[in-house]
Amino acid sequence: MSKTAHSGASRLGKIPPYLFAEVDRKVQEKRRAGVDVISLGIGDPDLPTPQRIVNVLQEAAADPSNHRYPSYFGLAELRQAIAGWYGERSGVTLDPATEILPTLGSKDGIAHVPLALVDPGDVVLAPDPGYTVYVTGALMAGAEPYIMPLTDANQWLPDLDAIPGDVADRAKLMWLNYPNNPTAAVADRDFLERAVAFCRQHDIILCHDAPYSEIAFDGYKPLTLFEIPGAKEIGLEFHSLSKTYNMTGWRIGWVCGRADLVGLIGQLKTNIDSGIFQAVQWAAIEALNGGEQETRAACEVYAKRHRLVANTLNELGWTIKPPRATFYVWAPVPHGYDSIGFASHVLDEVGVNITPGVGFGPHGEGYFRLSVTAPDARLDEAMARMRKLSL
Ligand SMILES: *Cc1c(COP(=O)(O)O)cnc(C)c1O
Repeated sequence: MSKTAHSGASRLGKIPPYLFAEVDRKVQEKRRAGVDVISLGIGDPDLPTPQRIVNVLQEAAADPSNHRYPSYFGLAELRQAIAGWYGERSGVTLDPATEILPTLGSKDGIAHVPLALVDPGDVVLAPDPGYTVYVTGALMAGAEPYIMPLTDANQWLPDLDAIPGDVADRAKLMWLNYPNNPTAAVADRDFLERAVAFCRQHDIILCHDAPYSEIAFDGYKPLTLFEIPGAKEIGLEFHSLSKTYNMTGWRIGWVCGRADLVGLIGQLKTNIDSGIFQAVQWAAIEALNGGEQETRAACEVYAKRHRLVANTLNELGWTIKPPRATFYVWAPVPHGYDSIGFASHVLDEVGVNITPGVGFGPHGEGYFRLSVTAPDARLDEAMARMRKLSL
């Protein structure tokens, strides 16, 4: 094979171009031209991290015992806090020594899990539209992604019966994500039970990405995977402090579930990173032990914003219901547009940035995603502008 010193590794060449890059470029161009662009494009809480958590970080950062390399597997106190949180939240016991591994945000766990558990040529089942890391992580590991389309007709749940038998037999891993990004869909017990049964039958590792497990409204409480009997025998669940405590910049989350699988991810990660800054771990312990009051208050804010967005779009001719969970609105683009065309139109005409659905995979075509993580006044302004949009 010839040297291709300047073209990068072939595995990177397999990764589709980042579709949001073009939108980003347009937003920057508008801003340079003096347009006051309101971004509803990114799922990143605008609300600050609760002060009690910041206080613990500040104290811990000043303590030299936190300045050295942390443990690869996280502080025992952190794994204990995670087990306590999970037990209280879900009524499920996790062994903090073997069934929990803290990660540098859940993206760290998600991107790396195929490297630890999947061989080249194995199939990885991934939802589309979906968080793009499920597919790119599989490609980086030389695996073969197989798309499970999410559609309105199926309530944005994969149709497990549509997965061909030979694909299911070659599949090593399945990704699910509920509450869902980008569709804001939720999964009921019946679906999760069927997914667990399917994965057990075909000997597939079920990976449930659950960063929005706490972002839910009107008393709705999303199920976590291990509330489903038998799930821990085949499953892993990925959690994050990013969305629950407005801590996206802090980079802390965890993977939990079947001990041998958690152990293999830990083994891989000892060769990649050197753990999580211990001061951040102490702050995470404070977050998890401190109750859910701030998260509930944040959800009240998101729920109010969701009602505003639904009311505004419905005045303009959409028929959408505020979602039960997540801070996303997922809605069809108007007739005559594709998703990139509509996002460009909204940006050009009223200076509001939304995300074209196709950025989450081909099956996201025909939809857009809007995130209600802009300050109230900015979201009000964005909705006032949307009322003037020509459709
Ligand atoms: C935000 C998000 C994550 C990653 O969050 P981290 O900040 O890396 O913990 C993972 N999956 C989905 C679906 C997300 O929306």
